[in-house]
Amino acid sequence: MPSLSTPLASRALEEVLAARQSPSWVPALRALVGDQAVRDDPAALWVYSRDRSPFAVFNVRRLRIPASLPSAVVSPTSVEELQQVVRFAREHGIAVLPFGAGSGVLGAAMPVSGELILDLKALNHIVAFEPIDGLVTVQAGLNGAQLEAWLDERGWTTGHHPQSLHMSTVGGWVACRGAGQSSSRYGKIEDMVQGCTVVLPDSRLLEVRPVSRRSVGPSLKDLFVGSEGTLGVLATVTLRVWPKPQAKLPLVLALDDLDAGFSTLRQIMQAELRPAVVRLYDAHETAHRVGGREPFDRKPIMAILEYAGSASLAALERDLSWQIARSHGAVTAADTPYLEWLKTRYLSGSVQYQVRDWYADTIEVTGRWSTLPNMHREFVAAARAAHPQIDFGAHWSHAYPEGACEYMTMCLPPMPEDEAIPLLFGLADQIQDIALRNGGAISHHHGIGILRGYKLLDELGLGVEILQAIKDHLDPQGLFAPGKLGMPDRGGQR
Ligand SMILES: Cc1cc2nc3c(=O)[nH]c(=O)nc-3n(C[C@H](O)[C@H](O)[C@H](O)COP(=O)(O)OP(=O)(O)OC[C@H]3O[C@@H](n4cnc5c(N)ncnc54)[C@H](O)[C@@H]3O)c2cc1C
Repeated sequence: MPSLSTPLASRALEEVLAARQSPSWVPALRALVGDQAVRDDPAALWVYSRDRSPFAVFNVRRLRIPASLPSAVVSPTSVEELQQVVRFAREHGIAVLPFGAGSGVLGAAMPVSGELILDLKALNHIVAFEPIDGLVTVQAGLNGAQLEAWLDERGWTTGHHPQSLHMSTVGGWVACRGAGQSSSRYGKIEDMVQGCTVVLPDSRLLEVRPVSRRSVGPSLKDLFVGSEGTLGVLATVTLRVWPKPQAKLPLVLALDDLDAGFSTLRQIMQAELRPAVVRLYDAHETAHRVGGREPFDRKPIMAILEYAGSASLAALERDLSWQIARSHGAVTAADTPYLEWLKTRYLSGSVQYQVRDWYADTIEVTGRWSTLPNMHREFVAAARAAHPQIDFGAHWSHAYPEGACEYMTMCLPPMPEDEAIPLLFGLADQIQDIALRNGGAISHHHGIGILRGYKLLDELGLGVEILQAIKDHLDPQGLFAPGKLGMPDRGGQR
C-alpha cells in the first residue's frame, strides 16, 4: 500500500510556500525561452502540484498540498523549444515532469521531487490531416475536446471519448495508455496511435513514422504508450481517425442478474459484433440511474449499448445483439437511460460526493469472462468489510472477446481523513490483489502513477527489470518523472 509519508504527506500550503526559494537556474531558463514561458509564482506552483487523484482532491478542499511543490513551470511553444528545455534540464541536473491537463487520477502528474513541470498545453497545433489515409497528426498538448471539435467540423472523429475528454490532452491519453467510452468499436489509445515523435531525456527527437504496421522488431511506439513521462516527452502523435458514423443506435436492456449480463456481453463480443459503447451496471448503479422505473423494477440489472457506423450495419449489429440478449432473458427498455448517459458522459461523477465531504475514489481493473463473476463477488465482500456505510458500485465497460474492465466507485461518508484514506487505500490494495488472483490486471486505463507503483512487480514480474533497464539507459540521471510507474526516484544520481 502507498505510504502516507512523503511524497504523499499533506502540508499546509502557506508553510510550504514560506519555506521555498526560487531555484538559482530560473533566470537562465527565462533567458532561454522568454519570461512569459516560465512561472514560479505561488499560484502556478499550487496549481501544478496536483492532478485529479482523490488524495490530491481531498487536500485541495482543506487547502493543503499533497506532495512537494514543483520548482517551476515552463511552457514550451514549439518542439524545438521543448528540446532546448530538456537539454537545459539535463545540463543542470533538474528533474522534469511532463504535464498535460492534470486529469490523471493516480498521481502521475504530481511532483514528488521539486520537478520542473513541462506544461505541454501550448503545444496544441494540428500538424497534418490526411483524410485519404485517415490520419491526423497533432502536437501532444492539444486538448482532447478541441481535437474532436476540429475533426467533427470536417466530418471525422478519433473514436476516443474518455469521460475526461474536455480536461485531458492527446499526450496524456497516450502516456497513460487510456481508453475511451467508445473503445469496444474504435479500440483503445494503443490501437489508434500510428506514430509519434518523442523528445528523449538526452533531448534528441525520436520519430516513429506512422505506418499501419511494421515487422521490424519489437514495437518502439508501444514503448512510449503508457510510459507516463518516464522515458521522454511525447511531442507529436499521429492518430487513426474515422469518418463520423452515419448512425448511432442505442440498445437498452434490463436483465435478471449479473450472470445474464456477463453472458450477453461475452457472446456479443465473441460473435464479432462491435458495439461502440458497452456498459453493464450492477444492481447498485442501476438503481442509482433508473431505480423504480419499468422494467428495472422487475429486472434490476441494466446494460446500455450503442451501435455506430453505417445505418444498415449498425441496425444489423443491434438486431443480432438483441437476439443474444433475448436468449438470456433480457427485455428492452426505453432509450431514456441512454439519452441521460449521453448528456452526462463527460462530467465528473465524484463532485457530488466531494461537496458533501464524502471520500470518493474509483478503481478499474481487467478480468476474464470466466473469472469476472467471482472477482466481483470478492470485490463486494472486501468493500463491505472495509466499512459498513461504504457506497460501492460497479459497472463493466470496454468489453473484449476475452473479458472486460470492471470499474468501481467507492465512497466513504464524512469521517476524519486519517481514517478515510487508509480505508480507501486498503480497499484499492485488496481489489488489485483480487484482480491478480483471478487472472486479471491491476489497471485497465488509468495507468499506474504514484498510487499503484508499488504493485508493478506483482503485475509484471521480471518485466519490471526490463522496464528499469530501458529507463536507466534512456535516462541515466533519473531526471524524467522520478518515482512514477513503479520506478524508484534515484534523485541521488543527479
Ligand atoms: C472525471 C475523470 C474521468 C476520467 N475518465 C477517463 C476515461 O474515460 N478514460 C481514461 O483513459 N482516463 C480517464 N481519466 C483519467 C485521465 O483523464 C486520463 O489518464 C488522461 O489520459 C490524462 O491526460 P492528461 O492530459 O490530463 O494527463 P496528465 O494528468 O497531465 O498526465 C498524466 C501522465 O501522463 C504524462 N504525460 C502527459 N502528457 C505527456 C506527454 N506529452 N509526454 C509524456 N508524458 C506525458 C504525465 O507526466 C503523467 O505521468 C479520467 C479522469 C477524470 C478526472
